Amino acid sequence: MDLPSSMQAMVLESPGKPLVLRQIPVPQANNSQVILQVLACGVCRTDLHISDGELAHPVLPLVLGHEIIGRVVHCGQEIKKLREGDCVGVPWLGYTCGTCRFCRSGRENLCENAVFTGYTRNGGYAEYVMAEEAYCFPLAPERAKPPTAPLLCAGLIGYRSYCLLGDAVTRLGIFGFGVAAHILIQVALFQQKQVYAFTRDGDRESQEFARSLGASWAGGSSESPPERLDGALIFAPVGSLVPQALRLVDKGGSVVCGGIHMSDIPSFPYEWLWEERVVRSVANLTRKDGESLLRLAAQIPVKTKVQLFPLASANEALDQMRQGKIQGAAVLIPEIGPIPGST
Ligand SMILES: [Zn+2]
Ligand SMILES: [Zn+2]
Repeated sequence: MDLPSSMQAMVLESPGKPLVLRQIPVPQANNSQVILQVLACGVCRTDLHISDGELAHPVLPLVLGHEIIGRVVHCGQEIKKLREGDCVGVPWLGYTCGTCRFCRSGRENLCENAVFTGYTRNGGYAEYVMAEEAYCFPLAPERAKPPTAPLLCAGLIGYRSYCLLGDAVTRLGIFGFGVAAHILIQVALFQQKQVYAFTRDGDRESQEFARSLGASWAGGSSESPPERLDGALIFAPVGSLVPQALRLVDKGGSVVCGGIHMSDIPSFPYEWLWEERVVRSVANLTRKDGESLLRLAAQIPVKTKVQLFPLASANEALDQMRQGKIQGAAVLIPEIGPIPGST
């Protein structure tokens, strides 16, 4: 297919400033890469952390976006499985080396030489994006729609966090009832778990949302549910939730922090950690995580709540996310709406 030479993209030029709509060259693919037309790209909290300058090493200028649903429009010479016209999902993990000690021990999420979509390589806030074939997840055409986008990061990181809790968890606490949580609760209920949802104190709307999705209990993060939890996931970037969650977790239980950025964790008595409780974080994903979640999501089937924005309204989507105004996930669509102020 003949591709245009340039495309519209929302570009981060300096952290702390709004993204700028620019006309930039369409990316090129080497032998192992494909070019995708972006059909939809989810807006993730990590995008907010990058654009606010809270993450240290973005490659500037940068096109954000790592929850990409795309259609293959060009294949490099050594592409094996994908064909033009195929639909794929592209996650945060854009490339790993396969040779470092982490890759060799099945922990490619920790690869020393990893490339991250929308962070150390341009992402999907654009009309086209380049991706490594080996890191694209094939999608059936009926799944290649905006509601699948949030699965590719919020869903995936949430799922990896959830799996790290282990199978013994029956009573699962989720702190921060946003995009990841509204996906994870569907997986957890499907696997016969009970979910306890913690929101900001007084956020009745999110608590109601959690109950409507099947949470056994929903309340503010300073409240205590009637039972002890077997494990807890923290999706809100608030360090003080770590000791709070730990106090509610029973012996041998884990508290897993799913975010890439969190405010400082206040000190707490050792007693709260005693009896083999664990606090840990989750970093990135493996391709195996992605394959299992996407399979499971199709089987359940997981339904996501999305709010669509035209590509040029990326700043508005980020602002609304910052203010907690989006219930479910914001997803950018390159094709809808007029693109004002194009340069
Ligand atoms: Zn590696
Ligand atoms: Zn993300």
